Amino acid sequence: MATRFADRMQTVHRSFIREILKVTEDTSIISFAGGLPNPELFPVETMQKAASDVLSQSGPEALQYSTTEGYQPLRQFIADRYRSKKGIEVDPDEILITSGSQQCLDLLGKVFLNAGDNVIFERPGYLGAIQSFSVFQSGFVTVGLEEDGPDLDELEKALRKDNTKLFYAVPNFQNPSGLTYSAEKRAGVAEVMKGSDTLFIEDDPYGELRFMGEHQKPLSRGYIKDGSVLLGSFSKIAAPGFRLGWIVADKEIRDRLVVAKQASDLHTSTVSQRIMYRYLSDNDIDSHIEKIRDRYGRQRQKMVESIERFFPEEIKVTKPEGGMFLWATLPEGMSSMDLFDTAISHKVAFVPGRPFYVDGSGDNTFRLNFSNSDEERIAEGVKRLGNCLKDYLAK
Ligand code: PMP
Repeated sequence: MATRFADRMQTVHRSFIREILKVTEDTSIISFAGGLPNPELFPVETMQKAASDVLSQSGPEALQYSTTEGYQPLRQFIADRYRSKKGIEVDPDEILITSGSQQCLDLLGKVFLNAGDNVIFERPGYLGAIQSFSVFQSGFVTVGLEEDGPDLDELEKALRKDNTKLFYAVPNFQNPSGLTYSAEKRAGVAEVMKGSDTLFIEDDPYGELRFMGEHQKPLSRGYIKDGSVLLGSFSKIAAPGFRLGWIVADKEIRDRLVVAKQASDLHTSTVSQRIMYRYLSDNDIDSHIEKIRDRYGRQRQKMVESIERFFPEEIKVTKPEGGMFLWATLPEGMSSMDLFDTAISHKVAFVPGRPFYVDGSGDNTFRLNFSNSDEERIAEGVKRLGNCLKDYLAK
């Protein structure tokens, strides 16, 4: 029998990064390719206690089906934290708990995108979002990122295009570039978007991982009063294995997302939500986040210093104030794909930048992850990469 797949899958590709990760499974390769949190910082023992307490004190409820919206005490916790940490007002009834923030992208696609609708997308942008929206046969209109946020003229032009239903952005320590929108750019984006019927999607899994500088207010509710949704995640501040994320949306949008989620998976794992809530209630998450910031901050510092020491000066690299990634740009006309093969033979890996561009550009860029290697391996890996770069530039 001929296999008859749906048209919508024709333009969706396997995640390029997951393919690369297969190559880097060889432990002699120092890999800056993945985007993984450092597992040494997972709160294994405290989670073990939380799991045991949940199962012994409310086992049957924890193992039962539950509501689509998500565990109410967990939603209350998230709402309280937005008020105390970010200065924005969120009602727990405006929150939907999801299976990772990745699921929010799928649900938003289901609720908003018809085939042929356009998504305004950062250039470069998050690969997982390209994959999610492509399933709905969307087109992309890209907006370039400057050091302090999107090019506002390009954004204005993009908003004038037909059927730009969504503008997807990662304003804090973006994946892949590490860039953060400044307060001025946030205000500028809000101004340009005023009166537009394009929904602003603010994806913020890295916002709490700031090592230096001032925290920025979310655009959603902080700057954009109407027509935005805000995504969050426990993956980078606790552990990704729980697959717990959330979306903050006005009631009308949230109710649609609830219906889409019912169709997808009924609800997010009850037991995951209860264990996470128990963990958050019995432990000080702020001091845990502080530990992550301290460790990643040192690893980022080591990577920046090693780059200054070992990279040829033609290579431009961002110096993010938080998150998990640095972004490098080779001189125009050079290809990080070619460099990748040389790097693997020197036992070091990164992610070539082109898959993060929906318009096929970005061949001369690449992403470096610093969260998942210790300082010693960072110094050694950057040195190896510096040697490859010198060889490559000399060709
Ligand atoms: N958005 C961005 C920008 C990400 O980098 C990631 C993780 N790589 C996600 C969403 C998905 O995170 P999760 O589903 O684990 O919450």
